[in-house]
Amino acid sequence: MAEGFAITIVGAGVVGCALAMELAGAGEEVLVLEMNHGVSRGENQSTRNSGVIHAGLYYDQRTRPLKASLCVAGNRMLYRFCERFGVPALKTGKLVVATTGAEHAILETYARRAVENNVPAILIHGDRVREYEPRIKARAALLLPTSGIVDAAALLHKLYALASAAGARFVTETRVVGAKSRRDGIEVEVRYRDGARDRFLTGRLVNSAGLYCDEVARMVDPASPYHVDPLRGEAMKFYRTKRPELDVAVMNVYPTPTKTITDRGVYFTVGVHLTPTLDLDGRGDPILGPVVTVGPLNRQAAGKEDYGGEFRPSSEFHERVRGFFPGLEEEDLEPHQAGIQARLVGHADWVVELSPAESRCLNLLGIDSPGLTGALAIARKAREMMLGA
Ligand SMILES: Cc1cc2nc3c(=O)[nH]c(=O)nc-3n(C[C@H](O)[C@H](O)[C@H](O)COP(=O)(O)OP(=O)(O)OC[C@H]3O[C@@H](n4cnc5c(N)ncnc54)[C@H](O)[C@@H]3O)c2cc1C
Repeated sequence: MAEGFAITIVGAGVVGCALAMELAGAGEEVLVLEMNHGVSRGENQSTRNSGVIHAGLYYDQRTRPLKASLCVAGNRMLYRFCERFGVPALKTGKLVVATTGAEHAILETYARRAVENNVPAILIHGDRVREYEPRIKARAALLLPTSGIVDAAALLHKLYALASAAGARFVTETRVVGAKSRRDGIEVEVRYRDGARDRFLTGRLVNSAGLYCDEVARMVDPASPYHVDPLRGEAMKFYRTKRPELDVAVMNVYPTPTKTITDRGVYFTVGVHLTPTLDLDGRGDPILGPVVTVGPLNRQAAGKEDYGGEFRPSSEFHERVRGFFPGLEEEDLEPHQAGIQARLVGHADWVVELSPAESRCLNLLGIDSPGLTGALAIARKAREMMLGA
C-alpha cells in the first residue's frame, strides 16, 4: 500500500479546490484526486455552467436552508475573492421579469423571500424595467443588484493555484474506485489512466465528487440512500453586436421561476435566461463581451457524461424567451454548450454531512446550482465541520 495522507478530497471542481485551499491554508496535509485530465478543463459542473453569481433569492429557509444561507454568504465571499485575486467578475445585477399578472403575483412572493434571505431586492414596474434593459418587455421585475457573472474556469484555476501554493497535492487522471473503513483510517483504492490500481490510507476523506457523489458515498457506506438524477442543461448563444435589437443583457435577465413536475418529483427551475459573458479590456479589466448566452434548457440526462449529441432545436429556446425579449429571432441562436447538474433525487437542498457509517468521511452531496456562487461558503462550512470553527 502507498504512503498515507491526512486528508483526501475526491474531486477537483470548484468546491473541492476551494476546500483544498482552506484546509491546506490551515496547515493540513491535503491530497486531491481528480479523474479528469486537467483541473480547469475537465467535463464537470464547474467548467460547464452559466457563470452567474446568484444573489440568493430563490431558496426558501424551510426546504432549502443550506442553499439560502450559503448562496448569500458565498456571493459576498466570491466578489471579495475575485477582486483580491484578479478573477474576472462583474456585479451586473439581475432582473427577474414578469410578463403576466400571474407572474407578477409570484414575484411579490419572491420579494418577501428576498427580505427573509437578506437579499437586496426591489420590485419595479414596466417603465423602470426599460430604464435598465430597454429591449426587455415586462410588466414588472425584481431587481437584484448583487447578482453578477464570473469567469468560472478562471475561478477554478485560481483556487487550484492557491491550494497548490498552500501545499495541497493534486493528482489528476486518477479515479477513486473504492473506500473502506479501517481502524487506522480509510483505505482508498484508485485507478490510474493506464488501468493500474493502487491503495493508500487516509485519515479523513471528503467526497466532493459532483455527479458521482452518490457512488463515492456508497463506497464508504453501502447503505447510503442518495442518488444523483443528472440534469442536462443546454445553452445557446447570440452576438449582441450582430444588430441593434440584440444589444441586450447588460444584466442577467431571468424569467419568473417555475416548478416542473416529473415522474421523479417536483423540481424548481430558474428558467431559460439571458446571461452576459465576460471579456477583458486593453488593461485586462473585466468588461461585458459580445456573446450573450440563452439557457439552460433542461432535460433528464441520458447519463452522467451525456455532454455530446444533438441540442434541442433553437425554436424551443426562442419560444422560452421571446415573451420578454421580442427582438430575438430564432436564426440569431447557435449552440453554446451543454452541462450536467448533480441533482439529488428527493432532496431540494444540498446535503453536507458526515457519513453516518464513517464519521471520518464528509459528504458534499447534490451540489447543483447555485454551487458556483456558494463554493467558498460551502468550503468554509466543510472546513469548520472538519477542524472546528
Ligand atoms: C448547466 C449548468 C448551469 C449552472 N449554472 C450555475 C450558475 O449560473 N451559478 C451557480 O452558482 N451555479 C451554477 N451551476 C452549478 C455549479 O456549476 C455547481 O454547483 C458547481 O460547479 C459544483 O462544483 P463541484 O466542485 O461540487 O462539482 P464538479 O464541478 O462536478 O466537480 C466534481 C469533480 O469530481 C471529479 N470526480 C467525480 N468522481 C470522482 C472519482 N471517483 N474520483 C476522482 N474524481 C472524481 C469529477 O471529475 C469533477 O471534476 C450550474 C451547473 C450546470 C451544470
